[in-house]
Amino acid sequence: MKIAELISGYEKFKDTKFKKYENKFLDLVENGQKPKVLFIACSDSRVDPSLITSSAPGELFVLRNIGNFVPPFAPDNDYHATAAGIEYATSVLEVTDIIICGHSHCGAIETMYTKITDINLLHVKKWLELGLGAKNYVSQKLSCDVGHEERLELTEKISVLFQLKNLLTYPDVERRVNEGELFLRAWYYRLDTGDLEYFNTESGEYELMIGG
Ligand SMILES: [Zn+2]
Repeated sequence: MKIAELISGYEKFKDTKFKKYENKFLDLVENGQKPKVLFIACSDSRVDPSLITSSAPGELFVLRNIGNFVPPFAPDNDYHATAAGIEYATSVLEVTDIIICGHSHCGAIETMYTKITDINLLHVKKWLELGLGAKNYVSQKLSCDVGHEERLELTEKISVLFQLKNLLTYPDVERRVNEGELFLRAWYYRLDTGDLEYFNTESGEYELMIGG
């Protein structure tokens, strides 16, 4: 997509969708945003939180990063966008739900199975360490003869559960979960079919959100 296309896309937005939501935007400016959901997704251009949930402006507080990872609480860490977003959503916006949405064909997860030698990917290499727990779990769980695709899919799904565990290392997330004010949810979106699955804590399995 070229810049000219983005600009004509903006023109279209200003003429149609902005008009549609104009009153909503005014209300959101006058009264502030009050999203009830923090949605953590991958930066992947094919995963669009608002699109797949048909959400309107003001409804989702969104964090996106490579691999939809959540770094564990580490107060001494330097600049940390994801951690800051989690804290703000939890303690200021007081969201009632945090959804971590993994997805199929995730480049971050696939890259974890390769050796990164490119020095231009220093931060990527470090960041992907956040998926190692899931990768190790999967390598213990699956036998060697399981195909690469299946291995990647399981890693994508298990990684979301590991990231949810990391969310609980944030003191206010843990407190609000324990007090029943906040719910953590694992979702998994398939790029090729549009199917959305959720992790059912009772069955211990991912299940289709709605009939396929
Ligand atoms: Zn991804």
